[in-house]
Amino acid sequence: MSLFSVIYIFGHALELTSNSLAESIFWLKVQYVGMPFISPLALLLSLRFAGVERMRRPRYFIPLLLLPAFTTFFCLTNEWHHFMYRDIYLRPNEPQPLIDMIPGPWYIIHGSFTFGCLLFGAVILVRYWAKTRLRYWKQILTMIAGLLIPMVASFLYLMGLSPHGMDPVPIVMCFTSALYLAAILSTTLFVAPVARDRIFESMRDGVLVIDLANRLVDYNEAALATVPALQPSSIGKNIIDIWDTNILGPLPYNAEVETHETDGRYYRICPTPVLDRKGQQIGLAIVLIDTTKQKTLEHRLTQLAYTDGLTQISNRSSLMLKSEEALKDAVQHKHALSMLLFDIDLFKRINDQYGHAAGDEAIRHIVSIAKRHIRPTDIFGRYGGEEFVICLPSMPIQEAAQVAEQIRKDIEQNPLRLTDCELRVTASFGVSCLQKETDTVDALLQRADQALYASKAAGRNVIHVASFGGLVPFHASKKKLFK
Ligand code: GH3
Ligand code: MG
Ligand code: MG
Repeated sequence: MSLFSVIYIFGHALELTSNSLAESIFWLKVQYVGMPFISPLALLLSLRFAGVERMRRPRYFIPLLLLPAFTTFFCLTNEWHHFMYRDIYLRPNEPQPLIDMIPGPWYIIHGSFTFGCLLFGAVILVRYWAKTRLRYWKQILTMIAGLLIPMVASFLYLMGLSPHGMDPVPIVMCFTSALYLAAILSTTLFVAPVARDRIFESMRDGVLVIDLANRLVDYNEAALATVPALQPSSIGKNIIDIWDTNILGPLPYNAEVETHETDGRYYRICPTPVLDRKGQQIGLAIVLIDTTKQKTLEHRLTQLAYTDGLTQISNRSSLMLKSEEALKDAVQHKHALSMLLFDIDLFKRINDQYGHAAGDEAIRHIVSIAKRHIRPTDIFGRYGGEEFVICLPSMPIQEAAQVAEQIRKDIEQNPLRLTDCELRVTASFGVSCLQKETDTVDALLQRADQALYASKAAGRNVIHVASFGGLVPFHASKKKLFK
């Protein structure tokens, strides 16, 4: 833009010092190599300043430069068609040769286009000014002055109000070019505002800015996803009217909070004080970070860490942790607690005869049967390959033995249905219970294991109970044994 201004100003200066009409016309044509391009380039500058990125693409800006190219062409070839100027003549009675022109049709088009570009540029800047809320007023004012001053000057010229009827625009252009230069050198005219705006708008996290009176000052695009009530007209309104406590919980003013929307999205809401140059708080920036992805992943990982992949019941470590909790609780409240340990009988044979997949199927089958007999508060886990533990809080050992019996019978009566045959599966059980305050989960499991071993030794598909009196086989009919 400055280069074209230079051509224009240079041509104009030499037009003024010309001694003949032919010389003046020559320098007039030189001016028209530069002048037509200045205003569309000024418009592009404004658009770029305001961050309208689209205009950087050739298919948008080339058409804008096509019309000035025609103007230059028509001016250079005016003698042949008089499309630009009907006539050019020397002004009579002037000590220095000054030329006057009678405009042709293209001159009107060129003039309208020039004004249009400058006006449109100014509108873009004023709108940008309003949008950025006075943040970059110095730069914007410089830009607007750069557009409006030549416009006013050329308007005065066209109205015949300029001194001596001379075109003041080139002289004014020297001044406005200096203005641009000063603005560019003194501030990071282009980078800072656009970059700031861009960062703010393109942030993945939503940001709301409020002042000390809780009025909304600014927000970015991403905030819309979290706070749908936001609208351009929300600016200036009290945040309480916009912030949906049902969805996001109470607005945090001091500390970071994690919230969880009803539709399943998770947010971390971080309030950050906004300080002025002196360090005084002037507002609050509320950053809304969507943590749904992390939370979902966290849940998934927790689930993977605590559940057994084959059966979807607790894995060994989770089983131990939960059982320890339950034991602690039972000791503390002097409640009963029982432990069942069971192992599928002759499982190796199932694997050997029917294959590993059938073995896996049998494991799932046993688990689904056992689940039918436990309460939601019971802890059911896979202890080893085909060994399972059920921790039964608040349950006395005689009742636990009954539960074991129900499961044992259910397994025995429900063979596993494979595609081409039915597979009879049984399991052996060991039952133990909390006996003294110093008992640990390991101690209970050890006693249950001894009972289980006794069941295996007794021919499998039976239950043994490790009670106060030692190891006892359980027979459903002999409930009195425990009384
Ligand atoms: P017992 O009645 O004495 O318990 O005999 P058993 O054959 O069941 O003996 P044991 O408990 O020692 O055998 C466990 C076998 O279970 C060994 C192993 O190959 C198999 N196994 C362990 N985990 C899995 C599993 O996840 N899937 C399958 N298909 N087999 C498993
Ligand atoms: Mg086994
Ligand atoms: Mg085993």
